[in-house]
Amino acid sequence: MIVVMIMASFRNKNKKSNSNIFSISLAQIRLKIAPVNALLLGLAVGFHGDLTDYVILFSYFLLNLFFLIFSGLRFLVTRPLRFILFGLDLAVGGYIITQTGGLYSPVYPLCYIPVLIAVVRFKYLGILIWCTVMAAFLAFITIFSKTFEIFPLFIRIGYLYLAGIIGGYLIHHTYTVTEEVSKRLTRWNIELQRLHHFSHQVIGSSNLEDIFSETLKTVQQNSSFPMAAVLIIDEDEFLRIYASRGWEEKWLQSYAAHPLPKDSDFLAGIIGYRNPVICSDVKKHKELIKSFTGTPVESFYAFPLVAREKEREEVVGILMVSSPMVRAVPEQEYPILAGIANQASIAIQNATSLHNEMTKAYTDSLTGLYNRRYFNEQIEKESLKAEKAPLSLILLDIDDFKKYNDTYGHPEGDRLLKLIAGTLQETVREHDIVARYGGEEFAVILRDTNNATAAHIAERIRMAVETLPPQAKKSRVTISAGIATIPDSAKDQGSLLDAADKLLYFAKNHGKNKVCSNFDG
Ligand code: GH3
Ligand code: MG
Ligand code: MG
Repeated sequence: MIVVMIMASFRNKNKKSNSNIFSISLAQIRLKIAPVNALLLGLAVGFHGDLTDYVILFSYFLLNLFFLIFSGLRFLVTRPLRFILFGLDLAVGGYIITQTGGLYSPVYPLCYIPVLIAVVRFKYLGILIWCTVMAAFLAFITIFSKTFEIFPLFIRIGYLYLAGIIGGYLIHHTYTVTEEVSKRLTRWNIELQRLHHFSHQVIGSSNLEDIFSETLKTVQQNSSFPMAAVLIIDEDEFLRIYASRGWEEKWLQSYAAHPLPKDSDFLAGIIGYRNPVICSDVKKHKELIKSFTGTPVESFYAFPLVAREKEREEVVGILMVSSPMVRAVPEQEYPILAGIANQASIAIQNATSLHNEMTKAYTDSLTGLYNRRYFNEQIEKESLKAEKAPLSLILLDIDDFKKYNDTYGHPEGDRLLKLIAGTLQETVREHDIVARYGGEEFAVILRDTNNATAAHIAERIRMAVETLPPQAKKSRVTISAGIATIPDSAKDQGSLLDAADKLLYFAKNHGKNKVCSNFDG
């Protein structure tokens, strides 16, 4: 029965999990144990042996010690000579047992050693083979030493198998736990490395799109969820999908038609308390059904993306990983996903702070337009590219602004500057760059625009200012402008600025409220 049990468990054993934590071979273990074995046999013989016994034991001890000490010869012991040496162990052990009392020999427990070595190796077949070999060996020795008695022999053989089964069970148990721990450690290690790699990629990034796409890529590498998305709370307080992976266009459109509102009950925990939320079945939440109809989302994890605004932490969006299956939110993926969301938050925070700082550094505080510094950088950059496409510049100056200031006061003057800045911004195209060039002077950089078009735009601006509604200003306000273009009227940045400036003063000297793109009046 015992044999059947061992065979059965052997068959059930998954070969792979039986792999190589204990990859050390039986012959390697034997190499280390054999000298001790020889000493134990010697101890059992004590002073009762004859010369042959001592000669055999001493040679056996020396031989084993020899192989143990000379590591270069280990190959012989563990490979070609291994069966001969196992045979020698049995022969010497068997001889000593017969000499010391057969079935009742104190040396008999040494028969456990091969069984226990097989247990350490944890191969059920190995345990079985060694139990059987040692049982036969013991039976043979007892017959040879004329101490054969069926009942005590059966008991001893029973002990051998019992030692094999209990030892095997204990090792198997420890092995499974060790293997589980080792697997987990390996997984954590990989996850940590990926998280580290991810942090490295995104922490220094100033580009939100790069951060989002890297975040989603890392999420997909580290989880079984097929869909991932970054949702950001927009001005209307809805969560809009900004970046996604595994989402088809039609699903994005379905969601976009009914985005989740920020104040939805389901999101209260995440928005209010920054706690991740798990939804194991979308269909159980009315407000979610509406948003996810037309998408395959059935369950999801949502992690807060937090940014700090003036010492206050605020949820700016969520990282959502979702599955088309109900209750498909594996718990073991939680830590890595939370880690990714955390790192993404920091990266978003850094990028927005950088963006805010940059904006501040390039913005004129009174009008909100770009400042002179930004203008200088852009005009330099653009004039280098002007060979490929014409580049135009409009310089504008408010007419008689000093008088306006003197008459209505400086604050009123400031108000007019803001009004004209707004008018400029509204009148030009979106990709044109409007900057405050000096006190009451403005500049517009027009990329890929020829002189005639630039003049046309300048005229539109002049008209817009002249026709500002009377209630918006204290008295009539006009501007003058000079327009220059590379390659038409200038060849580089310096001559472009110079030409526009000269044309502006040409306009001033010829009656103001004028735009001039040449000196023909
Ligand atoms: P012109 O038609 O020839 O351009 O005459 P102007 O009076 O507009 O030109 P001028 O250069 O003599 O005067 C510009 C004035 O703009 C002088 C200055 O007090 C005023 N100014 C410059 N910066 C600011 C500002 O930030 N706020 C206000 N309120 N006034 C400003
Ligand atoms: Mg001026
Ligand atoms: Mg002026």
